[in-house]
Amino acid sequence: MTRIFNDPSDFAEEALAGFCDVHADLVRQVPGGAVRRRRPIQPKVAVLAGGGSGHYPAFAGLIGTGLADGAVVGNIFTSPSAQQAYAVAKAADSGAGVVFSYGNYAGDVLNFGMASERLAAEGIQVENVLVTDDVASAPPSESGKRRGIAGDFTIFKVMGAAAEAGADLADVVRLGRKANSLTRTIGSAFHGCTFPGAEAPLFTLKDRQMGLGLGIHGEPGLFDTELPPAKELGQELVSRLLAETPAGAGDRIAVILNGLGSTKHEELFVLWLTVAPLLRDAGYTLVMPEVGELVTSLDMSGVSLTITWLDDELEPLWTAPAETPAYRRGNAALQPGGQLAEEASDDAAAPGAFEATEASQGYAANCLAALAAVRDSLRSAEARLGDMDAIAGDGDHGRGMVRGIDAAVAAAEDAVARGAGAGAVLAAAGDAWADKAGGTSGVLWGAGLRAFGEILGNQLVPGPSELAAAVGAFAARITGLGKAEPGDKTMVDALLPFTETFSRLVADSASDAAQTEAAWNEAASAATTAAEATASLRPLKGRARPLAEKSVGTADPGATSLAMIFTVMGPHLAGPACQGEVGGGLGGQAVRQAAGTLS
Ligand code: ADP
Ligand code: MG
Repeated sequence: MTRIFNDPSDFAEEALAGFCDVHADLVRQVPGGAVRRRRPIQPKVAVLAGGGSGHYPAFAGLIGTGLADGAVVGNIFTSPSAQQAYAVAKAADSGAGVVFSYGNYAGDVLNFGMASERLAAEGIQVENVLVTDDVASAPPSESGKRRGIAGDFTIFKVMGAAAEAGADLADVVRLGRKANSLTRTIGSAFHGCTFPGAEAPLFTLKDRQMGLGLGIHGEPGLFDTELPPAKELGQELVSRLLAETPAGAGDRIAVILNGLGSTKHEELFVLWLTVAPLLRDAGYTLVMPEVGELVTSLDMSGVSLTITWLDDELEPLWTAPAETPAYRRGNAALQPGGQLAEEASDDAAAPGAFEATEASQGYAANCLAALAAVRDSLRSAEARLGDMDAIAGDGDHGRGMVRGIDAAVAAAEDAVARGAGAGAVLAAAGDAWADKAGGTSGVLWGAGLRAFGEILGNQLVPGPSELAAAVGAFAARITGLGKAEPGDKTMVDALLPFTETFSRLVADSASDAAQTEAAWNEAASAATTAAEATASLRPLKGRARPLAEKSVGTADPGATSLAMIFTVMGPHLAGPACQGEVGGGLGGQAVRQAAGTLS
């Protein structure tokens, strides 16, 4: 378990700050993560590693010459936000383009993808290289769906060395993708990791059992089996990887035997004594093998074995020198010269003024009250949502939603105090939610709220049909970004019944506030029923997908929280509270006209 912490929710930030302080000669903390202390003299491709915290030395420990130029650092086991990725890229870019590299998790794909869109719009060349080495997470026929685990390290190393040697962006990306296509990892867990402040581990195994195929977020093994002697464990890992030897692969391989956090180096060496001879007997030459901790999972007990089949291009990149806080190889005095980076300015731009009518400011107060109600209900459901997510996902749904809503409420309070209208309040809340929650659900909720706000605008109080349009925009943004279909077992399974019911009832009958509230409440019950019904589904999207079977019998956490949120928002967005505060009845023609004249 994790014993040293202050407020558990500050753990990741404090760990990063401490890391940057002790390694100040090599790294510099910037908003969203960290970058190298020294900037290159000539423009070079910036290789940016990233993902959640809890995996040290991944990702910030790998910043330095010959490896990463920067790391985007999310909360524990949670994707960093698009804003963080954007900010780190801006700090690391030296004019030759940036490449984000990360394990294939939905939240990371969304956030790095959104940051890339923003960078590209500013004319910065940007690419993404996803790592998909975990053979246990999908069959070979669906290798593009596999998660990224310890193979992250090999891919970062190859790209980092290529960029250091002056390769251009297209070549760095090509080499990274090639390394990924030739890298396979299999893991095994013996004991679950425990979040700072958590009462119990993320998952448990029976005494003397191991879970084969663990993910680095504690996604439980594909199957549990009796813990074998080291020799048999080594054979199991080696044979599973050799069974996936890439077609046409050569006989020289990079090998990583990786500890997951609380497995001792001595244990790894004992295991190596089986692994190395088996690989040599299979005809392989082992090139600079690594035994140690390169991608961990807090205090998880477990190991993973990674093989990268090398060729003439990859081998010199794998063996090239590197100097980072956590990893050194070869001659440290690599690139002579190098000029000190300028300290990034922390001065935030002064917040802009808001333009809004009084009517919209009144409805903005309702939006804030709705968010505050959501915060209370998510806080009390935090543990339950986390437990649901731990069955087949990574257990962070409750924590992520609470972080998101806390940030959203704070941002909304600030915007309301500065006179924002409803649209601006929801946009600020959505951006803060996406920035702080991380994870798949965080980016979707953040983007959805912003879209909802864009329909409301800052002039009028919404009538029933505007509310229905806002809910529709919320849903369109979430399905557009996440690409989940009905039946994939995601929040979309609760969201679509809500939007369908609400727009149908609004079109049929809602002409006053009471009818609108009734329509909202009926839609919320449809969402609740639909969320409960997801228990029988197998997940086809998101982190829970590889462990689909385990999830059957438990409702989808994201669908459950969505139904809960829409239920508590109703009275504030569509009910009498709204009527009282805008003083004229929701959607009433008089109010809308009055609002219009105020602008
Ligand atoms: P993460 O999966 O990154 O750990 P959370 O645990 O906070 O994020 O959220 C998990 C929830 O996100 C799932 O229960 C599901 O409802 C939702 N989700 C996952 N992938 C998608 C997607 N592609 N589209 C819509 N919702 C999704
Ligand atoms: Mg999760």
